[in-house]
Amino acid sequence: MRVWLRVAGAVIILVGLGVLLAMSIRGSFNPEPEVIKLGKWLGCSACGYVYKGEIGRRPGVCPKCGAKAVWPVMRCSRCGSIVVIDRHRFRAEGREPYCTHCGAPVTMLKPIPADADLQQPAGR
Ligand SMILES: [Zn+2]
Ligand SMILES: [Zn+2]
Repeated sequence: MRVWLRVAGAVIILVGLGVLLAMSIRGSFNPEPEVIKLGKWLGCSACGYVYKGEIGRRPGVCPKCGAKAVWPVMRCSRCGSIVVIDRHRFRAEGREPYCTHCGAPVTMLKPIPADADLQQPAGR
């Protein structure tokens, strides 16, 4: 009985995988919507360089100073500063991300639209 169940389970899994595979080949199975790659605003928590680009594994490598300290950035809606969301730093401090300029909490930090025109460099 138990062996039969195991075989049945394996068959169900294989059939399920087969269906997923067939759907993905036909292109109808698309778990993620098509995204237009505009790039995201990124910042280096070591030198404060802010630029638009793609980031895979975080932290990324800074194109300016070479430090492995590139993270997405957000804007503080209280003081308007660009805040580098350095998870390592916030984790080391044992707190949620906050504005490193005025101390505003994470709820005050807003994502920056990809088409925003950022002039202000991120500070430390
Ligand atoms: Zn840098
Ligand atoms: Zn602030």
